[in-house]
Amino acid sequence: MYSIGPKKILEKRQTFLMPATAHFYRQPPQIVSGSMQYLYDQTGKQYVDFFAGVSVMNCGHSNPEIFATAQKQLTSLQHTSTIYLTQPIVDLAEKLAELLPGELKKTFFCVTGSEANEGALSLARLYTKKKGFIALSGGLHGRTHLAMSVTGIPMWRLDDQLVDDQIYFVDRPHNLEIAEIASMATSLAQLEQTLEEHGENIAAMILEPIQGNGGIIRYPKGFLKRVHQLLKEHNVLLIVDEVQTGYGRTGKFFAVEHEGVTPDILVTAKALGNGIPISTFSTTDQIATAFNRPSASTFGANPVAAETALRVLDYIAKHDLVQRAYQLGQYLKGALWSINSPLIKDIRGIGLMLGVEIQALNTKISAADLTDDILEEMKVRGFLIGKNGLDRNVLAFQPPLVIEREDIDQMLAALTKVLASKEAELACK
Ligand code: PMP
Repeated sequence: MYSIGPKKILEKRQTFLMPATAHFYRQPPQIVSGSMQYLYDQTGKQYVDFFAGVSVMNCGHSNPEIFATAQKQLTSLQHTSTIYLTQPIVDLAEKLAELLPGELKKTFFCVTGSEANEGALSLARLYTKKKGFIALSGGLHGRTHLAMSVTGIPMWRLDDQLVDDQIYFVDRPHNLEIAEIASMATSLAQLEQTLEEHGENIAAMILEPIQGNGGIIRYPKGFLKRVHQLLKEHNVLLIVDEVQTGYGRTGKFFAVEHEGVTPDILVTAKALGNGIPISTFSTTDQIATAFNRPSASTFGANPVAAETALRVLDYIAKHDLVQRAYQLGQYLKGALWSINSPLIKDIRGIGLMLGVEIQALNTKISAADLTDDILEEMKVRGFLIGKNGLDRNVLAFQPPLVIEREDIDQMLAALTKVLASKEAELACK
């Protein structure tokens, strides 16, 4: 079945896929199978997956407990859309109502993160009868019209002609060159000014509780609470995009719980289906009333996706993956700091959502190229690390939450060696 090999696949990608289809690595591996925290290429080489398909596979690849459920559902009832009554979708919505913070009790199901954000943004417009949005620089919310419009990473906004014109960006409170407090004050001042000037026309502010693609950015303590207060004063809703952070990754079930903030609308995707596409936006009974015309997502929480998601939620609880993410994250973060390499500029994040910002020691190589070198060498040693950040110089550690401490230790030993050899190479270049 997998007979053509990586070279031919790259050629076919170039011929038949749109050039926009992104990939990592100068020589991307061909992945043919997965098992929990491991991926395997066509030669049988094993990799420890430290990126989990961008925070998707929280319960691990081809987890037998989860795929058995999907398989069973496939053989009984695969799909009907919401036009008939089926049980899995309502059981899942009920379970989410238990798990979501505050009074977020009503959920709409879709398929992708972009689609769920698009729905959340549209709902905010319907409810507030206002049109504009505020977003943070460095945020990523998807590829559809509104979701891309509120995306604050230039490389993920295809073209300014394609985006909505009523979007106001505020600088994210993160600037390594100045103190956290000063950085937060600048963002909040910008937000206040935007609300003063345009609040009457702004429906919602959207943000990730911890930025993923923006480089694993956690805001200073108190930022989200203050943002929410300011928004409320101007009747502007808060939409939180938990597409990467949701379902235990950061050591809380939802990342907003770290800050004690309950948004008006909360969006999830990725990890809920552990590889089967499903996404959600959830809100209060009151806001949900604004979404009152018949609306269907053909595949949103179809029986296979909803049954799988129910099993994912059981699995996370049964194996205490939230606590596990927190503890392994603490361990990994501490160990990353103790590598103590001059190539590391910063280490940040929480739980199993950690970022290591790489800096170049001299002008012979850019930080982005150095990051690619490190990724490539870690791949050869059997570890697939992620990469993100506005300058593409942040190593991202977002493994399946079922990863073992021994995998982490082996990765750390390899990373220590790779960084030391890069330092030596740069020093003598
Ligand atoms: N929001 C966030 C925070 C994301 O990381 C992503 C995708 N990486 C999206 C939204 C878009 O999700 P999708 O690719 O499923 O449309």
